[in-house]
Amino acid sequence: MTFNPDELRYVNYLWDDLVADQLDPVERLRYRSNLLGADQRITNTGGGNTSSKIRMTEPLSGTEVDVLWVKGSGGDLRTATRANFASLSMDKFLSLENIYNNADVKGVKTEIEDAMVDIYRHTTFGLNPAASSIDTPLHGLIPFRHVDHMHPISVIAIAASKDQERLTQEVFEEEVGWVPWQRPGFDLGLVMKEKLNQDPDLKGLVMGQHGLINWADEDKACYELTLTLVEKAARYVEQRDKGEQTFGGQKYKSLDEETRTEILVRLLPTLRGKVSQINKFIGTVHLTESVLEFVNSMDAQRLAEIGTSCPDHFLRTKIKPLYVDWDPQKESVETLLEKLEANLVKYRSDYASYYESCKRPNSPAMRDPNPTVILIPGLGLIAWGKNKSESRVTSEFYSLAIEVMRASEAISEYQGLPRQEAFDIEYWLLEEAKLKRMPPEKEMARNVVVVIGAGSGIGKAVAHRVAKEGAHVVCADLSEQTAQETAQELINIYGLGIGVAGTGISSCGPAIGLGVDITERESIHAMFEKVILAYGGVDNIIITAGIFVPPDKQGHIPDEKWALTYAINVTGPYLVADEAKKIWQAQGLQTSLVITTSANAAVAKQGSFAYDTSKAAANHLVRELAIELSPLVRVNGLAPATVVEGSSMFPRDRVISSLTKYNIAFDENESTESLREKLAVFYAQRTLTKSPITLADQAEMAYLLSSSKFSKTTGQIISVDGGLHEAFLR
Ligand SMILES: [Zn+2]
Repeated sequence: MTFNPDELRYVNYLWDDLVADQLDPVERLRYRSNLLGADQRITNTGGGNTSSKIRMTEPLSGTEVDVLWVKGSGGDLRTATRANFASLSMDKFLSLENIYNNADVKGVKTEIEDAMVDIYRHTTFGLNPAASSIDTPLHGLIPFRHVDHMHPISVIAIAASKDQERLTQEVFEEEVGWVPWQRPGFDLGLVMKEKLNQDPDLKGLVMGQHGLINWADEDKACYELTLTLVEKAARYVEQRDKGEQTFGGQKYKSLDEETRTEILVRLLPTLRGKVSQINKFIGTVHLTESVLEFVNSMDAQRLAEIGTSCPDHFLRTKIKPLYVDWDPQKESVETLLEKLEANLVKYRSDYASYYESCKRPNSPAMRDPNPTVILIPGLGLIAWGKNKSESRVTSEFYSLAIEVMRASEAISEYQGLPRQEAFDIEYWLLEEAKLKRMPPEKEMARNVVVVIGAGSGIGKAVAHRVAKEGAHVVCADLSEQTAQETAQELINIYGLGIGVAGTGISSCGPAIGLGVDITERESIHAMFEKVILAYGGVDNIIITAGIFVPPDKQGHIPDEKWALTYAINVTGPYLVADEAKKIWQAQGLQTSLVITTSANAAVAKQGSFAYDTSKAAANHLVRELAIELSPLVRVNGLAPATVVEGSSMFPRDRVISSLTKYNIAFDENESTESLREKLAVFYAQRTLTKSPITLADQAEMAYLLSSSKFSKTTGQIISVDGGLHEAFLR
């Protein structure tokens, strides 16, 4: 039976014939996959796969053959394109059963089973480079034209319950069968095929501790069947919902938003430092009502200990989260920090004993034993990943696991995967091989880099430069709008990533844009609060913000302009460093600060009195901060000279003032860029290298000083001025 689309309450019916009928069969599969992947109740990010067996013409023989198009390894159904689907010749694929059966030792987790994954490549149809996933046989061995394998919350709730076989029968009657947990692979495909042989009327199977698979001979019918089965399970669960008694009822109360934010801002940098002792992590804070209901509940500790349900999950969430039993109403933040420290020590040692007791002779070495999901009553869920996208996925996965536990505990009793099975997924050699094939991480990966002045000029160039090295970039500027424009440019280049989670600013991508006035401590403080909530902490800071106030025709600078010059060029970087110091010390991670000074700091001349002396002060600020912030933070100065290209430091009136000073002919009607170019050419001729100095030159040095390539350099001023002998530092 299928539901009328209007009757569906727990899934959205999205299929549109007007769209689908315009598409070729492969694009129809892509379309179906995107629709299914768009609903987290149907499948999680990166989870599940879909397939269609399509008649196609073999290019050499010209004969018609069946081709299995199946979602390949990596990527995500929601955002999948045609390129994410592998294509296999069905006749070749089916012949693989002989290869498998002829192996001396076969079955789940045998050598031949893992070896099959590489053999799939020999069945590729049409030079398609997409790699097949381990789930391919689940699709290829089912003799129906369309197959959906999903990870729906409502069905996993059944699959993760103690009496899952009985529940499957009760919910789906004769329509859907059940297979016990088995690690996906060729053998599981054969198990399913056999199930279907015994009962040819089956429309699908609940896969124990894992998810759902179902099939049909028409793609739209397959889509509708998936929705129907998910809906049916969701209705069954809903009728048994425990309401206020969910998770044994509430043990703690949530905090009001202001208090919660205040505690999170205090807590996150410390926590990030503690979990980042081996690998640096980027954080995501997730605190929906449903997450809070779980972390505040009586059963949270017991259920957290059981671990997460779906095998997709714990590659990122680890087998279990770290739950900290803290009373948000009665206990202090200091107590929370103490409890966290003690719990972390225990978590790591639990992880090490899990590894020791489950490892096999050829297992990869133990991975980072720190938790990636931390649950705290009153505060919510904090997830950690190697980048923002990964931490959002981790957060999404555990919040889905909470929904699974809610449903499972409503209809039965939640159970986790046996530890050994979890281990065999987490340390699967195929998974290890995949990790080894990944390109090495970029220089600034896992770092949160705050660029102050990122709205234009050198700052904007720096933001682009560090993003290219894998940094998460906080683009900050006095103008919030230009800061956000730079951030958006970065997101357009590098993408938002996958994973649907994060509350408020924590749902951000690899870059954010923030307004800040560095002459105001409060404004700097507010900026860092947002950075902490967005990413969990702060690493490198690069300050390019600065001001040059041109004197009047007599060479005089009014007092308030003098004060403003110092406020922005000297006091500003000091205040930023002073505010960041608290965060850096809480984190305890090695990092760097770069302050932009100027070649003018070392050259006395007429007409730039306030600017030159302020930059000389900034040079010495670099040295003082290097001592003050050691050993955690390296502090260096970047001393550019006369970068005129696109610089807000060279507004039209400053350019005209300089051209006049140097007796360079110009026309008042010329465009600002053309005037700037005249000045740049003039300046280049005064340097030893005789070439104009660009934004990219400055950005390169700001990046290098922040990177590990300059890990032994601190308290120094590096000039990027084309070679000005009068500016040589002595
Ligand atoms: Zn799966």
